Amino acid sequence: MKNKIRLVKSRIFKTIEKYKLVEEGDKIFIALSGGKDSTTVLFAMKQFIEEKGIECELKAFHINFCLPISEKVQEVIEQQVKLANVKLETVCVKDLGIDIVKIAKKINRPVCSICGVIKRYLMNKIPRERKANKIATGHNMDDFLVFFFKNFLNKNFEWVSKFKPKLIATHPKLVTKIRPLFYVGNKECEIYCKENGIGYIAEPCPFAENKFLAGRRKWYEMLYYIEKFQKDFRYGMAKSIASASRFFKSEENEIKECKICGEPSSQEICGFCKLVKINGKIG
Ligand code: AMP
Ligand code: ZN
Repeated sequence: MKNKIRLVKSRIFKTIEKYKLVEEGDKIFIALSGGKDSTTVLFAMKQFIEEKGIECELKAFHINFCLPISEKVQEVIEQQVKLANVKLETVCVKDLGIDIVKIAKKINRPVCSICGVIKRYLMNKIPRERKANKIATGHNMDDFLVFFFKNFLNKNFEWVSKFKPKLIATHPKLVTKIRPLFYVGNKECEIYCKENGIGYIAEPCPFAENKFLAGRRKWYEMLYYIEKFQKDFRYGMAKSIASASRFFKSEENEIKECKICGEPSSQEICGFCKLVKINGKIG
């Protein structure tokens, strides 16, 4: 097992070095959900800057959705940041006057889609307001491969251009996104957390629909099944797709600024402000 942890660590370190995910003088926010992936990002990045002696600042960031499970998640995250010796900033959506369950009922959409809009918005706005230049997330190799196959099957090639460990900001109000787990998947993150004795939330979000979870599990099973016969299938695919991503041009949607809040958006009014408006109508 020790060898396996070493392999996971070495893959993450190589990704950080090759794509310059961490540079001197950076201020990096690490988006923590409490799950194994973002937990791995927190500890591996901390280990990286300590071992390499890089002068940069790491700060943990959590969006608390104020749902029944949120207290438990918050507790686990507070233990993680204490162990990693990294400061934590938490934003509670209730303090922003938002109730995602009520909004979901009102517009008859899954809670997950509301949660996604809020996450994308706050994961850019808060780090930028705190003068961070990068945000690190726990999107892992298996997630990217599943996205890749699904999008490729639907002839949605544009998405492939975003299949990279680093998405450099294309607007002054956007923060560069980094994905240190681009070459490690679910199995590897589980090994990293378990073998290092780091606690995390293992159960899926209670609001995730069973149909969605079963669909994703099916894709993961297919990837791991192929890997039984083809050594390093997932790693090989991720490397090939990352290098092919330059052939897929992204149709750069013009980035505007939301007329209400001024945050970057492809629409006149951003998704977040639309939700806030709906929330206001519920009262
Ligand atoms: P997900 O969208 O749930 O697949 O999560 C993708 C990544 O977004 C995670 O690995 C985290 O880095 C980040 N993330 C998810 N949920 C939260 C949250 N509540 N607060 C902060 N970051 C989050
Ligand atoms: Zn807005």
